[in-house]
Amino acid sequence: MNSAVIGFPRVGKLRELKFASEKYFRGEISKTQLTETAKKIKAENWKCQKEQGIKYISSNDFSYYDGMLDTAVLLGVVPECYKNLNRDALDTYFAMARGYQGKEGDVPALAMKKWFNTNYHYIEPELGADTKIRLAGTKPFDEYLEAQAEGIQTKPVLIGPFTFLKLARYQDGKKATDFVEDICKAYREALTKLEKLNVEWVQMDEPALVTDLTKEDIVLFEALYKTLLSVKGTVKVLLQTYFGDVRDCYENLINLNFDGIGLDFLEGRKTWELVQKYGFPKDKILFAGLVNGKNIWKCDYEKVLSKLEELKKNAKEIVLSTSCSLLHVPYTLKNETKLAEEIKQHFSFAVEKLSELHELTVLAECDDYGKEKEYVANQRMIKSERCYQDAGVREAVTNLSEDVFVRIPERNEREKIQKKVFGLPLFPTTTIGSFPQTQEVKKNRSSYKKGEIDKSAYDKQNFGFIEECIRQQEEIGLDVLVHGEYERNDMVEFFGENLAGYVFTEKAWVQSYGTRCVKPPIIFGDIKRIRPITVEYSAYAQSLTDKPVKGMLTGPVTILNWSFPREDISLKEMAYQIGIAIREEVLDLEKAGIRIIQIDEAALKEKLPIRKSDWYIEYLDWAIPAFRLCHSGVKPETQIHTHMCYSEFDEIIRDIDNMDADVISFEASRSKLTILDAIQKSHFETEVGPGVYDIHSPRIPSVEEIKDALDKMLRKIPAEKLWVNPDCGLKTRGVAETIPSLKNLVQAAEELRNCGENC
Ligand code: GLN
Ligand code: ZN
Repeated sequence: MNSAVIGFPRVGKLRELKFASEKYFRGEISKTQLTETAKKIKAENWKCQKEQGIKYISSNDFSYYDGMLDTAVLLGVVPECYKNLNRDALDTYFAMARGYQGKEGDVPALAMKKWFNTNYHYIEPELGADTKIRLAGTKPFDEYLEAQAEGIQTKPVLIGPFTFLKLARYQDGKKATDFVEDICKAYREALTKLEKLNVEWVQMDEPALVTDLTKEDIVLFEALYKTLLSVKGTVKVLLQTYFGDVRDCYENLINLNFDGIGLDFLEGRKTWELVQKYGFPKDKILFAGLVNGKNIWKCDYEKVLSKLEELKKNAKEIVLSTSCSLLHVPYTLKNETKLAEEIKQHFSFAVEKLSELHELTVLAECDDYGKEKEYVANQRMIKSERCYQDAGVREAVTNLSEDVFVRIPERNEREKIQKKVFGLPLFPTTTIGSFPQTQEVKKNRSSYKKGEIDKSAYDKQNFGFIEECIRQQEEIGLDVLVHGEYERNDMVEFFGENLAGYVFTEKAWVQSYGTRCVKPPIIFGDIKRIRPITVEYSAYAQSLTDKPVKGMLTGPVTILNWSFPREDISLKEMAYQIGIAIREEVLDLEKAGIRIIQIDEAALKEKLPIRKSDWYIEYLDWAIPAFRLCHSGVKPETQIHTHMCYSEFDEIIRDIDNMDADVISFEASRSKLTILDAIQKSHFETEVGPGVYDIHSPRIPSVEEIKDALDKMLRKIPAEKLWVNPDCGLKTRGVAETIPSLKNLVQAAEELRNCGENC
C-alpha cells in the first residue's frame, strides 16, 4: 500500500519564511534572498517526505502568502488597480495580499476569508467585467521542475476550478457560469503543460465539494470537469476533497473520468456510508484520508487498520492519505524540548504523521499486523492514560442550571441604564484591545520566558507599557480605553497558562494567514482556573484614568477553537469547562472596579459545521450558551462587549444577537461592509462597531475614508447603536501607522458628531 500527503506546512520548521518575508517587506533583504529561503523550505519538505517513504508527495503546495491568491495569479485574475502599480510579479502579488501604499500608488488589500472550518485564511479573488481568465502564471510547472531537480517526483497540486469559482467574489453582475469556458481552457492548458513535463499525477483540490451544494452547483461542477477531462492524455488526475463528505455529489463524482478520488474519512461523517452504499469504481484509486491532518494526537492504528481492511472490499487500490493538508498542524515534535515524555508520546505533528503513514502502510500489508512491534507499541500508548481528569470540574459542568445561561434584566433595559452611567458621546470610539507589540514589549517577554528576569521585573515593565498606552489613548482622544495587552502575545496561550488542563509547546506554529502563525496550546485534561488571570493589569490601567478601561478576555469558544482539543470528551463539555473559568474571571474583574468587559469570540465561526443541517445540534446549541455562561452573572450596569474577526456571520446573525452582549465589534472594512444589510434586516439589538479600517494592512486610512465608511454604516445602523473602532487588535501593527490611524479615526467620529443633521 502506498501513502500520500495532500499538502505540507510551508512556513518552514522554525517559521523561516515568515521572518524572511517580513524582512523583505521592511526592505532589509533582497528578493533573491527571499526566494532562496523559499527554495530551501520547499526542498527540505520534499526530502523529508521522500525519506519517510511517502509515494505521492505534493508540489505547488508551497505559497509565499496563500494558495487561493496563487491560483488567482496563475489564472491572470489580477484586478487593474494592482497592475497599475507597475510593480514586478512578486510585488504585485504582495500588494494584492497586503495592500500597498507608496510612490506607485495606494491600494487596499483584497478581502481575506476563513478557509472552510479552519483557522487558515485565504485571499478572495475578485472576478468582474474586466477579468479575463487565462493561464498566466508558471508556478506549478516551476515547482514541479524544482522538485525534480532535487531528484523528487511530485504531484503538482492545483486548487480546482470549482472551488476557485465558488470562493471568488463577483462584481459587475458577473457570476461563476460566465467564466466556465475560459477557466476550462486555462486548466486544460495547464494539464497539457504538465503532461509535456511528464508529470504522472496532478491533484485537484476541491474542498468546496463538501459544502451544501445546490443543483446548479452540481451542474457547474460536472460542466467544468467534463470539459476538463475530455482531452485527458497521460497525466492522471486525482480529485481531492477534504474537511467533510461529498454526500451531494458522490455519484456524479465517481462517474467522472478521474484516476483517483481523495475522500476524508475523519471529518466526512457520511464518507463511509457513501462508499458502502454506492461502491467505489474499480478503475480508480481511492485516496483514503484516515490520518488526521488537523489534530495533533497520534492515531489509533487499530482504528485505521480495521477501516482499511473493510475498504479493501470496496476499492481495488487504496492509497493511505492524510485527511487534509498538513498545513493545519505544526511542523515537528522534535522542536519540543520541554514537554514530558509521557505527554509527548501521544502527539504527532506533520513530520511524525509521515512516519505514521508509512508504518500504517507497511502494517496494512502484514497478514497478522496485531503481532508487529509498531502496532503493539501504538496500542500500548493509546491505552495508557491520555488525558488528566478532575472530578470536581466534571461535576460543576453537570450541575450547571438553566439560569446561569441567562443574563437579567433584558438588553433594552440594560442599555438605558448603561447610557446613563457611562455618559459616552454619540459614536463612542474605542479599539479592540491590543496595541503594537514593539521590540521592547517582545524583548521583555522573551527575557522573562528565558528566565533572565523574574515575574515582578517583567510586570514592572508591563505596567510601564500600560501607563504609556493609557496616556497615548487619552491624547488621541479615544472614549473607551484598553490596557494594551502587553502581557500576552497570544489571546489563547496567555489564558491557557493560567488554566489547569493545558499543555504548551515551544515551536508548534501553525499558519493563520500570510506571515502570521499561531501556536495553539493543547487541551490535555479537564480545565479549571488556577488564579485570577487579567485582574491586576486591568485594575492598574483603570487606576490611571477616569475614562472607562475595558477588561479583556478571550471567550470559551475561541479558547477552544484555537486550541488542539481532546478527542475523548465532547467539544461542548470542554467549552463549558472553559466557560466556568472565564465566568470566575469576569466576576473578579467586576469586583475590581472594571465596568466594561470585552469577551472576545474572534473564532466563533471557525468550527461552525460546514453543512447547515449540523449547525445547531453540533455547534451553536452549546457555543452560544457557553458565551452567555461567562457574563450572565454581572450587574446590569456592567457593559459586556464581544469581538469577532470576520463579519461573515450574516447567516447566524440571530445567534450572534443571542450571545446577549451589549456591544459587538467586528471586521467589516476588508469584506466591504456587506454585513450591514443583515444587521439592518434582522433588527440586530446589540450595539455594533463594524471595523472602520483594516488593521491587517500597514496603510494609514484617511479621515475622509473613515467618514465614508461610517456614512455607509449609518445608512443601515441607528446612530445611537454605532461604535467607532478599527477592525481587530493592533498587536501586529507598528506604532508609526497606529497612532496616526487612530487620530484619524477619532477625528472622523468627531466630525460626524458635529455635523448633526447635515451628514
Ligand atoms: N482583543 C484582541 C486583540 O486586540 C482580539 C484579537 C483578535 O480578535 N484576533 O488583540
Ligand atoms: Zn479580531
